[in-house]
Amino acid sequence: MWFLESSCLSTLFDMMIYHRIAVNVPLSDGLLTYSHSEPLPQGARVLVPFRNKTVVGIVWETDIAPDMDAARILGVQTTFSDEPPLPESWRDLLSFTSHYYHYPTGQAVFAALPQGLKETRAVEMPQPPLFYALNEAGRAQTPPPARFNKKAALWDALLSGGMTMAALKQVNAQVAKLIEDWAEQGWIETTEAAKPVLRSSEFQLNANQQQASDEIQTAFGSFQPFLLYGITGSGKTEVYFDAMAKVLAQGRQVLFLLPEINLTPQLLKRVEDRFADVPTAVLHSQMAAGKRTQDYLRAMLGQAKLVIGTRLAVFTPLPDVGLIVVDEEHDGSFKQDNELRYHARDLAVWRAKQSGCPVVLGSATPSLESWHKAQSGAYRLLQLTERAHAAAQLPQVDILNVGRLKLDNGFSPQALQLLKQNFEAGGMSLVYLNRRGFAPALFCGDCGHTFGCPNCSAKMVLHQRARQLRCHHCDHREPIPFKCPDCGNQDLTAVGHGTQRVEETLRAFLPKAAVVRVDRDSTAHKNDWADLYRRIADNEIDILVGTQMLAKGHDFARLNLVIVLNADGSLYSADFRASERLFAELMQVSGRAGRADKPGKVLIQTQLPEHPVFAAVKAQDYAVFAENELNERQMFAMPPFGFQTAVRADAPRVADAMEFLNAAKETLAPLLPESVSQFGAAPMLMVRLAERERAQIFLESTSRQDLHRAVSLWVQVLQQNRDGKIRWSVDVDAQEM
Ligand code: ADP
Ligand code: ZN
Repeated sequence: MWFLESSCLSTLFDMMIYHRIAVNVPLSDGLLTYSHSEPLPQGARVLVPFRNKTVVGIVWETDIAPDMDAARILGVQTTFSDEPPLPESWRDLLSFTSHYYHYPTGQAVFAALPQGLKETRAVEMPQPPLFYALNEAGRAQTPPPARFNKKAALWDALLSGGMTMAALKQVNAQVAKLIEDWAEQGWIETTEAAKPVLRSSEFQLNANQQQASDEIQTAFGSFQPFLLYGITGSGKTEVYFDAMAKVLAQGRQVLFLLPEINLTPQLLKRVEDRFADVPTAVLHSQMAAGKRTQDYLRAMLGQAKLVIGTRLAVFTPLPDVGLIVVDEEHDGSFKQDNELRYHARDLAVWRAKQSGCPVVLGSATPSLESWHKAQSGAYRLLQLTERAHAAAQLPQVDILNVGRLKLDNGFSPQALQLLKQNFEAGGMSLVYLNRRGFAPALFCGDCGHTFGCPNCSAKMVLHQRARQLRCHHCDHREPIPFKCPDCGNQDLTAVGHGTQRVEETLRAFLPKAAVVRVDRDSTAHKNDWADLYRRIADNEIDILVGTQMLAKGHDFARLNLVIVLNADGSLYSADFRASERLFAELMQVSGRAGRADKPGKVLIQTQLPEHPVFAAVKAQDYAVFAENELNERQMFAMPPFGFQTAVRADAPRVADAMEFLNAAKETLAPLLPESVSQFGAAPMLMVRLAERERAQIFLESTSRQDLHRAVSLWVQVLQQNRDGKIRWSVDVDAQEM
């Protein structure tokens, strides 16, 4: 009897199925074990208890052996059986992301979900869109006479095949009433799935564009990354659109990623206009949470065919993706710089491989990572070499040596003169300030010598008060030299800001001109950009003053003069990517000038007129720049030739953060693979952020595998941190110095 009872008990336990469930908690990997009376599908959303609270979880593994005393395992509280589970391909993407970026799976999963799916309520599933068309009886009718042109247009639209209500509304605002009438006559049929009808482009692709699009199309159905390199205005967007249209016409899905949305409203509008007839999901951080959740689900259910969004859209589940496009692939906003520090472009390529489809990365100034892959043949290079508008000409770029000039708050007399002339002629000007990667540095005004660190490839930062040059990569320090080691010049120059009072200077110089500053503060609100565009369109602005925010894909038709005040900061920057970014920004701002019919003018002030980056900008020649820069990177085994991961710590005082990292470094030094070097700890360039001070160590290797192993070891050691003052993080493929 005793025996029987015992086996009864054990069958009771046997009846419980154990699941590994991803929850958003900072505990181990965020994968916790819960029981349920029956197996739950992987990817299903559930509610589980965690520390006296009810939290959302995603079933990660089913039917596992319990990893702790079964009696202590808690049960799943609620299942949402009406919600389809998140698909396997999505879970694979998140597992990969979590592994590659050394971030807990549970937290990665929740970073990738829209708000609605993180809440403890059931979500409403979106209904598939209905497609309307004329049925046989309808097609046999005489169409409405042409003088009722709106009505006739709607009739034609219904004749052409299945269209959604939203698309039909664009043809005729009275669609609802008319369809109702015609449906009563028995002329209308509706279907749930239809191949969207696409409107054709307003252009005929030119030969270059056609060739690029054809190559992409040849790769349909298999994994192939492309780098579409074409100068600003060469018609890249039309190439994407052409290839996208072909995929959408097959009824398959397209993922289109673009940089941060408030920076690219025109591009978003262009995509939406061109594909107005296609069921579209738009996913970016400024969308209302409810709409975003619904769009996410519409993409996941295959109802939305075109998915457009910023970096986070790379995590959208897509059951049938046939093409992925990443526009402005070099843009820094594809890298998330907190919590889950992923790079959306890199994940986009991973997804294309997983889905067996082509991925097109497009840019006028590709990242050196992508360019290098195109050179080595890993990516296929597509090039557009001319501006698509026959009339559009490249701007004239002049480099002005300001080394010997007296500047007025950063302005040379020549720059002021040009601004005045342009204002009087009714043109619009842009004064461009470069703030990126900026730290004070020392250089020789005679021979152009800059001070590199003797231990690594970084440039040293000038610390005036401590009277030192310091390397923010390896923390090497030395006293400020009193003469140039190359030419002996004793008059070494400090490069500082000197541009704080740009607006005041302009207002005093041109009191009648309307001067507007564009920066993060002035564009913080959703409508700020729209407002700015309206003012530009209404001719209300004469001079824009701004930073790199203005360099991105904006089309300002009237803009015909660009003045670049302080390009040089980037060339002494301790951040090895600063010159790459400077080049991209100069090319972009130059591309802004004179897009329409008259050529624009660009004046770049510099104390280093001989620097190759300026020759490349003047010639508008990315390839020359890239070759130079890649040679330099190769010498130091910097990305893309070597790989980097930053391990960061912050604390109220930077010394504590440094000490914490250095202690771990010492523990780990004997354990790391031989190919891995550790640099630092050193304070970050921007050491203070949100009342905390930050330091970092760089782990570098030419072997990704070795580096990955080293980072895993680091994470194991860091996880033992019990000091509440210190917070740490890992940034794989770090972009920030
Ligand atoms: P990019 O994306 O390379 O900057 P766009 O696709 O925005 O270039 O094209 C630049 C301009 O040229 C746009 O105004 C676009 O409408 C126009 N354009 C693009 N392709 C063609 C074409 N084949 N014929 C005429 N105009 C074109
Ligand atoms: Zn150094």
